[in-house]
Amino acid sequence: MPGMTITEKILAKHSGKDRVTPGENVWVDVDVLMTHDVCGPGTIGIFHENFGRDAKVWDRDRVVIIPDHYIFTADEKCHRNVQILRDFVKEQNLRYYYDPAFVKATGMPSPYLDPANTSYKGVCHKALPEEGHVRPGEILLGTDSHTCTAGAFGQFATGVGNTDAAFTLGTGKTWLKVPATMKFIFHGEIPAYLTAKDLILAVIGKIGVDGATYRTMYFAGDGINSLTLEDRMTLTNMAIEAGGKNGICDVDEKTLQYVRKRSTRPQWEVYREDKDAQYHSVYEWDLATLKPMVAKPNSPDNTDTAENCREMKLDQAYIGSCTGGKITDMIFAASILKGNKVKIPTYIVPGSTEVHSDMRRLNLRGVPKDKNEKSIEEVLRDAGCILGPSGCAACLGGPKDTFGRLNEPINCISTTNRNFPGRMGHKKAGVFLASPLTVAASALTGYVTDPRDFVTQRIETGMAGVL
Ligand code: SF4
Repeated sequence: MPGMTITEKILAKHSGKDRVTPGENVWVDVDVLMTHDVCGPGTIGIFHENFGRDAKVWDRDRVVIIPDHYIFTADEKCHRNVQILRDFVKEQNLRYYYDPAFVKATGMPSPYLDPANTSYKGVCHKALPEEGHVRPGEILLGTDSHTCTAGAFGQFATGVGNTDAAFTLGTGKTWLKVPATMKFIFHGEIPAYLTAKDLILAVIGKIGVDGATYRTMYFAGDGINSLTLEDRMTLTNMAIEAGGKNGICDVDEKTLQYVRKRSTRPQWEVYREDKDAQYHSVYEWDLATLKPMVAKPNSPDNTDTAENCREMKLDQAYIGSCTGGKITDMIFAASILKGNKVKIPTYIVPGSTEVHSDMRRLNLRGVPKDKNEKSIEEVLRDAGCILGPSGCAACLGGPKDTFGRLNEPINCISTTNRNFPGRMGHKKAGVFLASPLTVAASALTGYVTDPRDFVTQRIETGMAGVL
């Protein structure tokens, strides 16, 4: 009998079976269900409609609610959504809720004053591991397609619709078809001018936006081990951009160190691939030969190298989101921007309030700054960047008053994950997806720019994003 993959082992364990095979349908126990301000109200409505007005969720400690999408806006419908979440949290006595802490129901709510001292956490996929809700070997469902981000921690994490989420709210279970696994192996250490964004764009460019539909994308090899944990989150985050059911990485010391420090529960199980696990397909890359990549408008698989796009003039740059708003992303960008001035409006959105706090606390090497050093935030501001509060902001367009939104048909280079028409606002705006290194380099020239023009040595990130 052939061996199993990590994903198969997790699904077998959670369905009470010794083994599962791709294509098999199984009922599984869910460890954590996450929802946010966009899909939470709909999920709650379906839950009440089907389980009853007085129904209780299956486990008040396993439902996590993180408002993050449309927070800093004057749009009253968005405020109403947050209020629906608050009412549900109170009604169900939920333990894990991260409120934006504004009290006004009309007008633009004030952003938090101190990112180190607020109940608000920012983008759900960044906040989930930070707040201890992500563990190896578990099943995480979220009403957001980028829930697959948490696969970087060796867990099965996937996005679900409101109806499926409502069912899980009431029962703690869901029904899954076991996905076949595609294996993506990266050889060699990550070069200084590449980040995980280049790797995942290379993958999506190769297999297409439907190339992994309903499959597991397993990222392996010494190249993946050489990535920071945060950078692995960029890989798994974008599994959905190839149609993947989930993305997953091996658990190593970096993962264990992070999860041990943060998990809200002490017990979890680490699964490893069997040597004779079966794969749908295997792809390999040598990192030494990979070049900085971009995805041109209007699809993540419309990829090219940054050097081939040098003629492309840009109007705006954007560094943020669950893909490119982590603290290591900020260090990558700031290392290029340090001592320079941006040529185009460059918006910076920390992926979480923890990231924002670290941007004030740490220096460019990812360690606490001393009094003579500049913080990451100061370096970015000195370069002329415009810094906004943590959240999804313009990644998803949002209401017209959203920070960084593309309200005109302009060209923007962005660390986000999706560039379909209208994704960041105006339907005719063009979005180039790229790494924080490429976005920062391009912000300095006003054209798509290969970061190898600026990066001359390895950028150290210290323990940023870990401790
Ligand atoms: S930052 Fe963008 S991709 Fe991430 S959860 Fe928010 S809207 Fe979705």
